[in-house]
Amino acid sequence: MSAIAFPVPDPTILARREQIIEGLSRLVAPAALITAEDERRPYETDALTAYRRLPLAVVLPSTTQEVAAVLKFCGEQGVPVVPRGAGTSLAGGAIPQEDAVVIGVSKMNRILAIDYANRVAKVQAGVTNLAVTGEVSAEGFFYAPDPSSQLACSIGGNIGMNSGGAHCLKYGVTTNNVLGVTLVMLDGSVVEIGGAHLDAPGLDLLGLIVGSEGQLGIVTEATVRILRSAEGARPVLFGFPTSEQAGEAVAAIIGAGIIPVAMEFMDKPAIEICEAFAHAGYPMDVEALLIIEVEGSDAEMDAQLARIVAIAREHGVKTVKESKSAMEAAAIWKGRKSAFGATGRIADYICMDGTIPTGQLPHVLRRMDEIVKGYGLRVANVFHAGDGNLHPLILYNCNDPVEAQKAEDAGMDILKLCVEVGGCLTGEHGVGIEKRDLMTFQFNPEDLAQQMRVRAVFDQAWLLNPAKVFPLEGRVAA
Ligand SMILES: Cc1cc2nc3c(=O)[nH]c(=O)nc-3n(C[C@H](O)[C@H](O)[C@H](O)COP(=O)(O)OP(=O)(O)OC[C@H]3O[C@@H](n4cnc5c(N)ncnc54)[C@H](O)[C@@H]3O)c2cc1C
Repeated sequence: MSAIAFPVPDPTILARREQIIEGLSRLVAPAALITAEDERRPYETDALTAYRRLPLAVVLPSTTQEVAAVLKFCGEQGVPVVPRGAGTSLAGGAIPQEDAVVIGVSKMNRILAIDYANRVAKVQAGVTNLAVTGEVSAEGFFYAPDPSSQLACSIGGNIGMNSGGAHCLKYGVTTNNVLGVTLVMLDGSVVEIGGAHLDAPGLDLLGLIVGSEGQLGIVTEATVRILRSAEGARPVLFGFPTSEQAGEAVAAIIGAGIIPVAMEFMDKPAIEICEAFAHAGYPMDVEALLIIEVEGSDAEMDAQLARIVAIAREHGVKTVKESKSAMEAAAIWKGRKSAFGATGRIADYICMDGTIPTGQLPHVLRRMDEIVKGYGLRVANVFHAGDGNLHPLILYNCNDPVEAQKAEDAGMDILKLCVEVGGCLTGEHGVGIEKRDLMTFQFNPEDLAQQMRVRAVFDQAWLLNPAKVFPLEGRVAA
């Protein structure tokens, strides 16, 4: 695929590569500076593997002070910088460019402090998402945002993309669960934004940082909320004869003011793929499946479930199956959370990520199917239905350039559809390079110029993850 453009590398930077590496070697230990081509290769792409560029060098600092020294140096040298966590971005957010230094936070992976009384944890940015819950679960706590990639992805990357997950319907996404960050600015200064409690004084700069895709600075530490685990949780499978009926049921449940912990959708192809992988006991004689999880005491769960079942019946539900044991519940979630990996076993795929008002689900599901079929391709849908966050997985053969281009075009048409029905280009995966050129579809030139001016306040030289989010020619407009 070649549709997404990269900036032409600055020849004056390439010509200074040895000098830049020599400068970096004075700032970090030898093991933290990666320059050999074969060792830079793992950093040339992220989970948007169709695109790749070998970076100038990779630095893996161990402290905030090292990040500050490296950023200051790159800023002074005019060298672009690409912040990186675990490199699981599906939008190409961590893909470098040839004249850029990658600054990875993977060595900064310690949990610094846990304060159960105030329900917060302070962690370094390279800590994996799941490690936070792992650290506090014995005390009955958890960290709520749960991307399916949570075993690998970092808190820094979650902040960069404002990531979400299946259980964010009730608990909110990253921005609702981060209270403060330590941010290193391009000039090497270190600032504390937010704090250890809700609603820090002053402008809500934290709201600006979360989801800024590494364009405003590098997060080295974060204070996150930890929540008490519920008394019990019960995922329930609802099988429907059509995707439209499942979509209508979702809209009706949300419309009735019921907020389960999670409400996940799978269409027939996704059910088949996930069941073959996880043996979760998903019903195979239905066209669409909702996994709805309720939590609380038995009485609370029974009461909420009764209302949900009643609504599902009004929309023609064919199968209702409650998990009866912790093992069954785990298998249900294993199937859902492995959906992307399981899909990768049968085909190459592009995972799109758009958001729509839930009331539009039936219409959008129908149109998405038409769009993908129109390109002669297949789609598997598995997504966070409760908050209208779609993830159509468009299946294609990456060795066939024509088919690959069709897959990208179909994805772009779907994202445009999301915008047309009042939604948004991204739900939780960010813009990265993938949706950068569609930003002009979502925003008018004035809106975009204002956003770029805000970005430029933090990075006048446009060096922080410069080829992402805004159209490449955008810098001029700002
Ligand atoms: C199989 C699979 C399933 C997924 N499921 C989900 C899901 O359910 N929900 C979801 O939201 N996402 C999901 N993702 C996407 C991805 O995991 C998330 O975007 C994740 O937050 C990225 O974290 P990372 O550490 O890999 O960050 P990276 O990919 O390394 O970086 C992501 C972005 O954040 C920036 N960044 C990274 N670290 C920092 C830092 N310290 N300071 C400032 N900026 C930084 C980068 O420059 C980049 O723009 C999935 C991905 C895969 C491969």
